[in-house]
Formats: sequence, structure tokens, C-alpha cells
Amino acid sequence: MTTDHGYPAVRMYIAGEWCQGGTGRTAPIVNPATEEVIGEVPLATTADLDRALAAADEGFRVWRATPIARRTAILHAAADLIAERAPEIGRVSTLEQGKPLAESTGEARRTADTLRWHADDARRAYGRIIPSEAGTVLTVRREPIGPVAAFVPWNFPVGGPNRKISSALSAGCSIIIKGSEETPATAAALVKCYEDAGLPAGVLNLVFGEPAEVSAHLIASPVTRLIAFTGSVPVGKLLAAQAGEVMKPSLMELGGHAPVIVCADADPVRAARKAAQAKFANAGQVCTSPSRFYVHESLVEEFTAEFVLATEEVVVGDGLAEGTKMGPLANERRLKALERLVADAVARGAKVLTGGAALDRPGYFFAPTVLTDVPEDAELLHEEPFAPVAPIVPFSDLDEVLARANALPYGLAAYGFTRSAATAEKLSAELEAGILSINHCGGSVHEAPSGGVKESGYGREGGPEALDAYLVTKRVSHLLVP
Ligand code: NAD
Repeated sequence: MTTDHGYPAVRMYIAGEWCQGGTGRTAPIVNPATEEVIGEVPLATTADLDRALAAADEGFRVWRATPIARRTAILHAAADLIAERAPEIGRVSTLEQGKPLAESTGEARRTADTLRWHADDARRAYGRIIPSEAGTVLTVRREPIGPVAAFVPWNFPVGGPNRKISSALSAGCSIIIKGSEETPATAAALVKCYEDAGLPAGVLNLVFGEPAEVSAHLIASPVTRLIAFTGSVPVGKLLAAQAGEVMKPSLMELGGHAPVIVCADADPVRAARKAAQAKFANAGQVCTSPSRFYVHESLVEEFTAEFVLATEEVVVGDGLAEGTKMGPLANERRLKALERLVADAVARGAKVLTGGAALDRPGYFFAPTVLTDVPEDAELLHEEPFAPVAPIVPFSDLDEVLARANALPYGLAAYGFTRSAATAEKLSAELEAGILSINHCGGSVHEAPSGGVKESGYGREGGPEALDAYLVTKRVSHLLVP
């Protein structure tokens, strides 16, 4: 069933059934490109959450006992369905999140590849046999940790939920995922692919609700064995503290404020092009988005001119419109936050080279923005902007700029541009970040780990490390009796 806007009716998925919440409570879903209400998302009651917990408990017993070949076959079938349905999943994602259709469908296709990669990797989650000094048969086994409670935001409506789902299911865990209430239909379309691929009931459950109520209830339940969260640092701290109260491990993928260091020997035009392309992807609403641009003073003029050129080439519009390169911000909160950050920088003396304001049209559109002369005390250089704004700051000394880059509590992504192997090595060794790209602005890849240090969180998604949080290590020492 779809609405006039071509937007599907949204349901939760609990114990293998698509359902409304118990009390019929809902929240509106807004298309950020038009500000129109396009649908409603059901909100779970405590009783709904308890049903999901019971289902995940039973689902775990079924799934962990399912032979790995069967599990892998189901996950590959789900990946094939995600790839086949990518155009439709992408359209729904653009309707509720705003990003250009090509980005949404590309995200869905990459999601299918990620799932295949994790499913195959789980076949190699080997334990080991250790020569025992005590004469026992000493083995180390890796076992699924158990039912997972996962909480995901709205910026990657397909890839975000799937990172948690694919890792959990590949490892043999069941999962309850609280999708974003702002992008629920995309999460539901993703979950439907798993259902249609033959995943047993209860292994994967999708709920929506009042975030604080849902997380408190799921974290406290004895059924839940792991908490996996992607979102902001303040919410991450809250959930990690709740998990700590009941001694449960957690996986925290939090925010960042990625520095870009353009060294004196870099090609300023190439660096500006690469950095601008990464900056405006998903309207800057990416945790690894480059967000502080430190450029050597000898290059800053040329870099800035090219960056402004690249910024002004970005076509802003409805993500469903042909040729759109950047959509609106995903919600009014982000628009207001960006207006506040730009106003604060300007009040402190920053110059707007291009953009600087919301567009005069319906929707949460903000012009791609470049600022210079941003003083060090501007909020923009400290608070994660999560928005299409680029402050360009000159520097003269590499050690001094490294200290500035590392001064914030964040430590997620960082970028460096240099032709010198020695400088690249210095950046690699000294930048405090979990993800570093040199001479390009690389995004997440499924074959390598992503994650933060410092307040950007802990645990890794992607690469063989992705399964670590979802597996527990058990030592078995067996004394053979004659
Ligand atoms: P927010 O802090 O209000 O919410 C972030 C996410 O956490 C949302 O999906 C929200 O539904 C969820 N959430 C909030 N309270 C929760 C709770 N008690 N339990 C469970 N989930 C809860 O921020 P926002 O306005 O939605 O997003 C902006 C900020 O979020 C950005 O500044 C950015 O730091 C962060 N963010 C980070 C990522 C990431 O990939 N690390 C993604 C999206 C948002």
C-alpha cells in the first residue's frame, strides 16, 4: 500500500509479522525536499518491545543452530534482493531523507555487496587449537554473542541499518533494530529483503518508537547481549552508560569533525576538487565528512579559488530531480543548527565566500557554503557541523596544525594531501583518527574497518573486525579421560 506521494505504509516487523504498534501511536514522516507529511511511522509500546525481545531470544536459538551454509545462502539471497530492488529502495530513501537518487540507489547496491562480504567472512570465523602445557585438548571457539539491540540514525537509511544487521546475522546473532523514525520505510524495505530471502521469524526484528524509551527498555532486558549504536556523541555516552549499568558490551559509532590537512607540497587544485566532492556528498551529513580545511598558507589562495568553483558547480535540488547533486538537509533540526553555526562564525569575523544561507523555497535547503577568516573560537571549528559548510583555515607549520587537528575530543576520520612519503607517514602516525585517507577522501568500504578513537566511539564496522563485537571467545580445556 502506498500514499499519494508514492510512499509506502510503514509497519514494524516483530516475530516474522508486519504490525502496527499496540496503541496505534504514530509520528509523521516529512519529505525534507517539500516539507510535506508523506506518511506515518508506528511507535512501539513496551508490550511490542517485549514481543520483539521474546522473538529475538527464540530467533537466536534457531539461527545459531542453523548450519553456516544455510545461513550464508539466506544472506546471499537477501543481498541479491537488495541489489534487484535498489532502484525502489533508493526512491523511498530519497523521499524520506532527501539525498540525490543516484546516491540512494548507489547506497543500496553497496549495501548488497557489504552483506555478501560479511556473510562470506563469517565462514572464516575460525577458532584455534593450542598446544597445551597441561596435556589437555585446549581450544578457542568463537561463538555468537546473542541477541543484539541496535539503534541507527537517518543519514544512511539503507547502509546504516544494514551494517548492524549484516554483521549480527553473519555472526549467528539475532537482532532487534530500532530504525530511525525519520527514515523508517527504507529500513522496512531492507528488512523485507531478508524476510523474502527466507530468514526465519524472530531472527531480525524492526521497531520504531520514542528513542529514549526504546533504548532504555531493550538495553535493560536480560535477553539483550550487545548494544550497537550509530549516532551523536551525547546519545552514545548515554547508551554506553546504560549498558555499563547492566555490564553489557557496546559498539559505538559516533560523530566526528574531520580535519583535512593540505600540505605545502600538495597539488592545491586536485586537493580542492577531491575535498569539495566529499564535503557535499549527502549534504555533509556524514560522520566522516571533511569539516575543517587546514591549507598551507602558500597554497591557500589557489585551493580556496578552486574549492569555491567546485562548490558553485553543485546543483542543489529535490533528490528525485534529474541532475541534482545535493539535496536538502534531512530535517529542520539540521537546518537550524547550520544557520546557528554560520551566524556564530560570521559574528566572530568569518567571511562568506559562497552560500551562507538557506534557500528561499520550501524544503530544508541550504546553499553549499565556504567560509574563510574563521577564528579559532568559532563554534564551527569545535562542534560537528554535519552540514554542507567548509571553513578554510591557513597554516604555516605542520606540527602546529597537527596539534590543532588533534585538539578536539573527536577522532573519527582525517584527511591529508601531500606528495612526500615522509609527510604522509608523519600524518599517518600522528593524526588521532580511526580512519585516515591520504591524497583522496575515501568513504567507508566493507573490506576494511571503520570506527573512531577518543569520543568518536569504539568498536569497528567493516573488515574482519566487524564481526569481533558480535562474537565471544570461549576457551575450552578438555582433559581426556582414559
Ligand atoms: P541526535 O543526537 O538527536 O540523534 C542521533 C540519533 O540518535 C538519531 O537517530 C536519534 O533517533 C537517536 N537517538 C536519540 N536519542 C536516543 C536514545 N535515547 N536512544 C536511542 N537512540 C537515540 O542528533 P540528530 O539531530 O538526529 O543528528 C545530528 C547529530 O547526530 C550529528 O551532530 C551527528 O553527530 C550525529 N549523527 C552521527 C551519525 C554517525 O554516523 N555517527 C549519524 C547521524 C547523526
